[in-house]
Amino acid sequence: MAVGRSKKVLTNILRDKLSKRLEGWRGKILSRGGKKVLLKGERIRNIRLSANTVHDEWYWSAEKDGVFTVRKAYRLMAGGCEFLEVGGASIWEREKWLWSRLWKIAVWPRVKLFFCQLCSEALATRENTATRVRGESSFCSFCNSSFESSLHLFWDWGVVHRVCERLGLEGDEDAYGGGVRDWVKARWREFGRRECGWFMVGCWALWEHRNKVIFEGREVDPNCVVKRVRDVMEEIDGGD
Ligand SMILES: [Zn+2]
Repeated sequence: MAVGRSKKVLTNILRDKLSKRLEGWRGKILSRGGKKVLLKGERIRNIRLSANTVHDEWYWSAEKDGVFTVRKAYRLMAGGCEFLEVGGASIWEREKWLWSRLWKIAVWPRVKLFFCQLCSEALATRENTATRVRGESSFCSFCNSSFESSLHLFWDWGVVHRVCERLGLEGDEDAYGGGVRDWVKARWREFGRRECGWFMVGCWALWEHRNKVIFEGREVDPNCVVKRVRDVMEEIDGGD
């Protein structure tokens, strides 16, 4: 293992300190926590340092050659942590079809961007904002009995069921494993490309309606969402 100069100096100081500490502890009865520290300390003392003087450098750990690329940064943002290997394939590899399908659907770019945020769990739901703003409630704006996650808004919210019913977009309700991407993947498998477009616009219109209800004091109205989706899809189809 090659360690840079500054890191080497720091490690030596730590080793010296730990050695003195460990000497002081010898012969004493240690608590369980103390024994753990002792074991860790011995492991640190056993780390072999490189004899070569290597300067510290910056590396982009997502690429083998350490050089930053926008492509990999986008993939990490879109697919979550690429390094979580499951069954030999990274999460990005296993979910690549979800993202590539998303970009191929004929809807407005703003709908696609919204959907990217939804699939990345990056929408400003109350659950998400509460983790960033101290004192904010993380409970649902409508039922106030559950955390307002994106899955709760787009799957549990009563309005969603009525909107989906009227748009003919009802899927198998048990066909997802718990996360919002699992829910989207289940719909992707069931729906053709056109239905996926309606589904994406449907979610986008629901989010728009949710914001109008919360920030503009509008009434909750599934008919309003259904009309919006139909108008937008008509405009999109008309533009083809
Ligand atoms: Zn709710």
